[in-house]
Amino acid sequence: MTPPVRKIAVLGATGSIGGSTLDVIARHPDRFRATVLTAQRNVDGLAALCATHRPELAVIADPALEGQLAQRLRAAGVHCEVASGHDALTAAAAGPLCDTVVAAIVGAAGLDSSLAAARSGKRLLLANKESIVMAGELLLRALAEGGGELIPVDSEHNAIFQCLPGGRPDLEASGVRKLILTASGGPFRGRTRAELAGVTPDEACKHPKWSMGRKISVDSATLMNKGLEVIEAHYLFGAPVDRIDVLVHPQSLVHSLVEYLDGSVLAQLGNPDMRTAIAHALAWPTRVDAGVSVLDLAASGALVFEKPDLATFRCLALAYQALRAGGDAPAILNAANEVAVEAFLAGGLPFLSIPDLVESVLMELPRADVVDVQSLVERDRMAREVARRVLRCAC
Ligand code: NAD
Ligand code: MG
Repeated sequence: MTPPVRKIAVLGATGSIGGSTLDVIARHPDRFRATVLTAQRNVDGLAALCATHRPELAVIADPALEGQLAQRLRAAGVHCEVASGHDALTAAAAGPLCDTVVAAIVGAAGLDSSLAAARSGKRLLLANKESIVMAGELLLRALAEGGGELIPVDSEHNAIFQCLPGGRPDLEASGVRKLILTASGGPFRGRTRAELAGVTPDEACKHPKWSMGRKISVDSATLMNKGLEVIEAHYLFGAPVDRIDVLVHPQSLVHSLVEYLDGSVLAQLGNPDMRTAIAHALAWPTRVDAGVSVLDLAASGALVFEKPDLATFRCLALAYQALRAGGDAPAILNAANEVAVEAFLAGGLPFLSIPDLVESVLMELPRADVVDVQSLVERDRMAREVARRVLRCAC
């Protein structure tokens, strides 16, 4: 029997993950339909996507741009509902127009919509790792209350999901010894601190294997991306911090591994193309063609694995430290990192100062227990304020 057509909200449709998701959706009109598309400010990009995918609702996060979007859509002959603002975006994630939500907004801005999708029992395809880093327990609680399901889209977590029996089982009962996240090492793998002193945003965003948005590209260059992913793995799979390892694998063909008590190590392999993880998560538990070329292991050369250099790439060590501290320390780490990356991309902070800034904020705001979303958002705000002050003093 063919499964019913999934009605999919793509939050962050104009981004890198959004584009890959829409590519997979368009390949399977009998299985998937994009019913809600959203963007922050890119009116032209969103209008073009609406003309191609004909959603029922388009949401632009910046309310000042709603009129412009409506006008563009009218001119293109697209008759969909138009809304604007953060609340409209959150409501769309929980609303009746979709049964599946692809959380592909970048940064903490994606938290409310991820939570709303979880609470309302949708299938949540989580790319927006920042929301689970910030609010891991709250997000899992919302998911349990809503009765929906979370399928990770981050390639490493999607790989682990595929290597575990039944997706997100009890690790102890399943005989899992370790989760091993692979990392490409980013564009600066092998460099010394001295060689990193003057690197530019464009150099940091030139990832050797993956094509991604600018924020995650910088996170990959600092290894903060892997740090956020260690925290993400902790919450997604209930893994204690000491059972999550990172292995640098520059070819980016092995997307992660699971080590079992009996000595078996299961890995998921594939070309570095996010459409594989997205297609897996959209179609799960079935499989569909993702449009990804076949992995040719005979042609790929040697697969190399090495330990990460935590002394040069301090962000990964800081993320482990925040996870060990617990409470809202991961949220503080995330907020400080977002400010630092923004400043680096704007040319206002040297690459090597990114971990320094994050560390200063973690020191100034010792961990507190996570009580609810409101207090977490307040702590996120405080962390950004401290980060901006430290930045001003450093200039
Ligand atoms: P991107 O910058 O290419 O796209 C971000 C999208 O979010 C855009 O559509 C933008 O309009 C929207 N957006 C940004 N700020 C917003 C706001 N304040 N309110 C509403 N919408 C907003 O980013 P990306 O590379 O696609 O990454 C998206 C998320 O997926 C990130 O959390 C990233 O860590 C995660 N992720 C990305 C990749 C990848 O290959 N790109 C891989 C794994 C995980
Ligand atoms: Mg990843």
